Amino acid sequence: MKLFAVKEQESRAALTPVSAKKFIDKGIEVAIESGLGEQSSFPDTAYTQVGATIQSREEGIKIADIVIRVLAPSVDEVSLMKKGAWHVSLLNPWANADVLAALAQQGINAVSLEMMPRTTLAQKMDVISSQANLAGYMSVVKATDYFSGILPMMMTPAGTLSPAKVFVLGIGVAGLQAIATAKRLGARVTAFDVREEALEQAESLGAKALRIDLGETGSTDQGYAKQLTPEQIAKQQEAQAAVCIDSDIVITTAKVFGRKPPILIKKEVVAQMKAGSVIADLAAEGGGNVEGVVADEVVTTENGVTLLGYHKFENFVSRDASSMFASNIEHFFNHFWDKETSTWLANTQIQLQSEEQDDILKGCLITTGGAIVHEQFKA
Ligand code: NAD
Repeated sequence: MKLFAVKEQESRAALTPVSAKKFIDKGIEVAIESGLGEQSSFPDTAYTQVGATIQSREEGIKIADIVIRVLAPSVDEVSLMKKGAWHVSLLNPWANADVLAALAQQGINAVSLEMMPRTTLAQKMDVISSQANLAGYMSVVKATDYFSGILPMMMTPAGTLSPAKVFVLGIGVAGLQAIATAKRLGARVTAFDVREEALEQAESLGAKALRIDLGETGSTDQGYAKQLTPEQIAKQQEAQAAVCIDSDIVITTAKVFGRKPPILIKKEVVAQMKAGSVIADLAAEGGGNVEGVVADEVVTTENGVTLLGYHKFENFVSRDASSMFASNIEHFFNHFWDKETSTWLANTQIQLQSEEQDDILKGCLITTGGAIVHEQFKA
């Protein structure tokens, strides 16, 4: 069985030398596109030293039984793949209908890593969580770079500096890590989420929870927040405005799975913040939580507030982000490793046809047998 890892316009890699060795030890032939790990501190030689080979993109994709990468393939690349091969990556299936159609037409078993079920068993395969953890950490580290002050209280003979005030909006995986990082650096942290259990988690990390009565909010069976009504969003914007204005650093992470993130901080609020303060918006890719934020750009407002629109803060720590991403993919394949026959996916091929599909596969398999099979994307 042959596995090929594609190099992308992206600083992370879906395969590291460590994960390559684990695949090779199981008898898989591993090939990479040259330069795969050059932006994440893994030179080609680190892969060849563990037994991987270098192949051109076209040849690698053509002969592989398994293609792995971080992002979705192009339609042209899909057309090179072998019928019955596996493709494992983030697919952004909401925005890539043409790619899903091509994967189905080509007879590929395509796995969308975004769709990994949020179960205890699947946690080690969950790239959304592993990357959000790093993004939450890096959002605070990057914000301190642009902030004109320090985070901890400092008492010196020249006078006392008060701790910086950090507001974290959205207390999921990224938000919790942002709170923990800001606390470690000595900031005073306030946090808000629509989910009550998230507020309790923030308090357990030493943050002050902002409580706003929005009426019925709720979450999905996967633990994601449900979309708020326009009235609830307006109420939230008003109730949190004073905290935003008073904060030195604001980290926003509020997303709604599969939908555009809500605008939670309006221009009028940003305009009242202090000069030298910073907002890092982790939802910037989908449009952002903050008016005026531009994806992938740093914007300074007229009143001197820096808006960080890096939506992939994890890419600033690409070595660790790649290691976690690659490890998530390796755990996914381990789940389907048949010890008795020492083969990959042998039982999976059978399960693909069966009604009694594995829960993990059922959650994230988008195409197989020439069709789009995932309930959410069939239509
Ligand atoms: P996410 O990235 O979709 O959203 C980030 C946060 O924004 C969430 O906490 C959400 O509640 C919040 N949010 C949404 N709308 C908001 C609004 N209007 N105002 C303020 N906050 C808002 O979510 P996530 O970080 O991926 O995870 C959400 C939950 O799922 C967490 O409880 C997490 O612990 C859980 N989870 C479970 C597993 C597992 O069991 N395997 C894996 C990952 C995450």
